[in-house]
Amino acid sequence: PSQPRLQALEKILSRPAALTAPIQPLDELWASDVFTLDKMKAALPKEIFKSVQRTIKEGSKLDVSVANVVAQAMKEWATARGALYYSHVFYPLTNSTAEKHDGFISPQGDGTVFTEFTGKVLVQGEPDGSSFPNGGIRSTFEARGYTAWDITSPAWLMETPNGVTLCIPTVFVSWTGEALDKKTPLLRSIAAVNKQAHRLLSLLGETTIAPVNSSCGAEQEYFLIDSAYVPLRPDLLLAGRTLFGRPSAKGQQFDDHYFGAIPERVQVFMQEVERQMYRLGIPAKTRHNEVAPSQFEIAPFFEAANVATDHQQLTMTLLRSTAKKHGLACLLHEKPFAGINGSGKHVNWSIGNATQGNLLDPGKTPHKNLQFLMFCGAVIRGVHMYGPLLRAVIATASNDHRLGANEAPPAIISVYLGSQLEDVFNQIREGRLSGSALGGVMDFGVDTLPEFDKDAGDRNRTSPFAFTGNRFEFRAVGSNQSVAGPLVALNTILADSLAWISSELEAKLGSGYGLEEGALAVLKTLIEQHGAVVFGGNGYSDEWHRMAVEERGLENLRTTADALPVLERQSMRELFERTGVLSAVELQSRFEVYAEQYILAIDVEAKLAVQIARTQVYPAAIRYLGELAESLQLQSSLGIQVSPETSKEVAGLCQSLMDISGQLQNAIDHPPHGTEAHMRYSADTLVPLMADLRVAVDGLEALVDDNLWPLPTYQEMLFVR
Ligand code: ADP
Ligand code: MG
Repeated sequence: PSQPRLQALEKILSRPAALTAPIQPLDELWASDVFTLDKMKAALPKEIFKSVQRTIKEGSKLDVSVANVVAQAMKEWATARGALYYSHVFYPLTNSTAEKHDGFISPQGDGTVFTEFTGKVLVQGEPDGSSFPNGGIRSTFEARGYTAWDITSPAWLMETPNGVTLCIPTVFVSWTGEALDKKTPLLRSIAAVNKQAHRLLSLLGETTIAPVNSSCGAEQEYFLIDSAYVPLRPDLLLAGRTLFGRPSAKGQQFDDHYFGAIPERVQVFMQEVERQMYRLGIPAKTRHNEVAPSQFEIAPFFEAANVATDHQQLTMTLLRSTAKKHGLACLLHEKPFAGINGSGKHVNWSIGNATQGNLLDPGKTPHKNLQFLMFCGAVIRGVHMYGPLLRAVIATASNDHRLGANEAPPAIISVYLGSQLEDVFNQIREGRLSGSALGGVMDFGVDTLPEFDKDAGDRNRTSPFAFTGNRFEFRAVGSNQSVAGPLVALNTILADSLAWISSELEAKLGSGYGLEEGALAVLKTLIEQHGAVVFGGNGYSDEWHRMAVEERGLENLRTTADALPVLERQSMRELFERTGVLSAVELQSRFEVYAEQYILAIDVEAKLAVQIARTQVYPAAIRYLGELAESLQLQSSLGIQVSPETSKEVAGLCQSLMDISGQLQNAIDHPPHGTEAHMRYSADTLVPLMADLRVAVDGLEALVDDNLWPLPTYQEMLFVR
């Protein structure tokens, strides 16, 4: 066939069997491409290694003399593996990963070369950062950016068939110290949690307290389709989602894909992704099919938030690059296909340390229970006070298609505790749990809290933020997003609430309360003031949407245009400044950058919609109309009774396609001034026009001869692989 779409199908159907690679045992694979602490220990003098360990633990600065020795060892390890280049890897305010590559090569005067890598270069790099979004910071301060090694995350090797590069995870800041990236505030938020958790744990009577960190395990959903479709769909190619496409007759209604057998081609792809993850020290743990056809999920075992964030970013990169090798395209967009489920990223989050363990684990003694209730209460307070912030950090043009669409959590941020724990907090509110008797408190007839709802069947899937036994699961995060933003928000609101709780508790203790009495009194106040955010019912229901807003005073920020301006609120500025996570300037710059990205994303989609409608769909429809007309004429000349209904319908849809695309083009050309106005306009004018245009195009897809239709269909993309 000459039609490119049909050629693509032929190519896909004749693809050779799946690529394979040699099978290796885990101990050979595990972290083989990482400059681990173990490797450092083996390579470094004892004193130097100890100093590195101290730096990692305390987050202090790496001494230059120490850095020199570490750099030397790192270079030797990397160059022995064939590395010629090193790269400072950083995470700009887009959701992507950025790299600046430099050679180890150092030319000598006599025409020879050797490799060189000093501590200074390891610790600090200087990319030309001017082309990264900075939301006005750099023009304000006339400052360039520099990168600095984040020693709490290990260096690794990135291999391509033609070479090896040493990758060093770094923060990216301006010379005046403003954060230009996603890692800097994450590290600051971890420090803030550590500080405030220490304070509360001390008040609760702990004397030995190891550094407290947050943990993250992110479940990543994605779609996998054959790569041959992508160049034929400019929307997939440039916007990552289909702007048009009629639903396939078979979608996800049979529920036959979820947890079904993984197709072989996909399994081979997954196994290669996992092998590479293991080599990079990323603990891949589960894989399965998801609800929609051609949708899958991968999840690692949880790790320290900072490392987990780097690893999550690498995982997305590996998914995309490995898919390419296998003739597949991995779609990380939140809503690549209309009418079937989109993709999210469940961020499982907890905090803990080496001495007290997981602080969100109820534990086995009354003392542990009290500690648990205090930390859990802190989370509840944080989410109630700063729910709109949690909505803002997951606000993107793409995630808007998913939130509130009855397949994903609503845009209203509430907390699901499970009925048992909700009951415990109700008892606290009603004063039924009284202080001195914390040991005998529980109505459960035992002196410890029961294990809470760890059973997957009992987890309210309609909640955006759910307690799942020993952690919270933030489910409204988008599949394409860095987990850094959500983790920064969670850590920051927790640190803030822990500070409030500690101050309240100190006051109670100062006025003569005993520890347990005082703690329960603080919790009582807390749940009285913030219990409105706790909700165990159906988050998809209209009733909840009404009740949340009208009775509970929660906000329903439907689109990114509604949600992002939250970052400009005074209360948010104060939160971030108080906790030392972001300055007012840094927060403002984030608003500017994310708003700009939202506007650009919709602008690109709108332009693509016009382009595809006019240059691909319209010509096909008109050609079909011509064929219809010719055939009708021929038939009536033969005296056959004909009905022009289809022709009229096609002609009508062609007309509305041209009309609406004209309106859309005009709207694209005349946006209002000002960031907030432009955001609103994108949400309220451009998005609805695109939806109208889609009706015309999808209508034509139902009528036009399949042989003429230029765009790969949903049926093909989702079922032919
Ligand atoms: P689900 O039933 O939601 O799929 P899993 O048990 O597979 O749950 O876990 C999902 C993710 O949660 C995994 O990445 C897992 O490592 C992570 N996780 C488990 N416990 C914790 C914890 N205490 N803190 C953070 N993440 C956790
Ligand atoms: Mg989960």
